[in-house]
Amino acid sequence: MGILEVKNVGKRFGGLQALGDVNLSVKENTVHAIIGPNGAGKSTLLNCLVGKLIPDTGSVMFDGQSVLGRKPYEINQMGISRVFQTPEIFGDLTVLENMLIPCFAKRDGAFSLNAITSVPSETDVLEKAEAMLVEMNMADKRHMHSASLSRGDKRRLEIGMCLSQEPRLLLLDEPTAGMARADTNNTIDLLKEIKEQRDITIAIIEHDMHVVFSLADRITVLAQGTPLVEDDPQNIRGNPKVREAYLGE
Ligand code: ADP
Ligand code: MG
Repeated sequence: MGILEVKNVGKRFGGLQALGDVNLSVKENTVHAIIGPNGAGKSTLLNCLVGKLIPDTGSVMFDGQSVLGRKPYEINQMGISRVFQTPEIFGDLTVLENMLIPCFAKRDGAFSLNAITSVPSETDVLEKAEAMLVEMNMADKRHMHSASLSRGDKRRLEIGMCLSQEPRLLLLDEPTAGMARADTNNTIDLLKEIKEQRDITIAIIEHDMHVVFSLADRITVLAQGTPLVEDDPQNIRGNPKVREAYLGE
């Protein structure tokens, strides 16, 4: 039994069957990659896991509890955190201010922007945010305007913001999309460190095969809304079905 069990999930947008019949089991403390051509339904699947979309059919169980019908923030409180395809940080805030947001939210169950102005007296939250910036290797950038960070550092900050919520399952949607090679490699190293040092399960959607093969313990290939193959990385590389799915791109 995996920490995440997806059974017979289907999702239709009007006339388009974006997800057909998806079954997926993600084992605890592994990195599970979901790959597949553009339009295969990868982001749709992720949206169904975090409550942004409600599947038409099937079930999604996290640690034995159904996530279906729950609001995104409730699913987040169950222990699932998600990094979106495009970075979602507040560009006008500093790195530290961004990091304070999930730290307050974790402690208080909610966050109001007014909280940032009371930071000097909120030493527990401040210490936690600072510690997370150290872990993310961003302590020297704490007072930088977030908009001026490199793509790789924005992603790093965002991943740190997710981790400060202490999730048991971290979902990443193409975390290296649009990155230069150096930033991509830094992101791979960061995720490897997280995998080694934390008690966490990671499900990652990724287009870049270098990233996939650097990180994944298990790979599911999605094509046209249906899992084509699920296997260990060494068996995915030469799989003719997988090659065929990508040839249509
Ligand atoms: P991937 O992430 O694998 O590239 P998506 O899950 O984004 O694929 O999309 C799967 C299919 O569903 C695509 O054909 C896409 O155009 C369509 N799609 C995704 N989201 C919506 C939506 N909100 N409304 C209508 N069609 C959508
Ligand atoms: Mg996508």
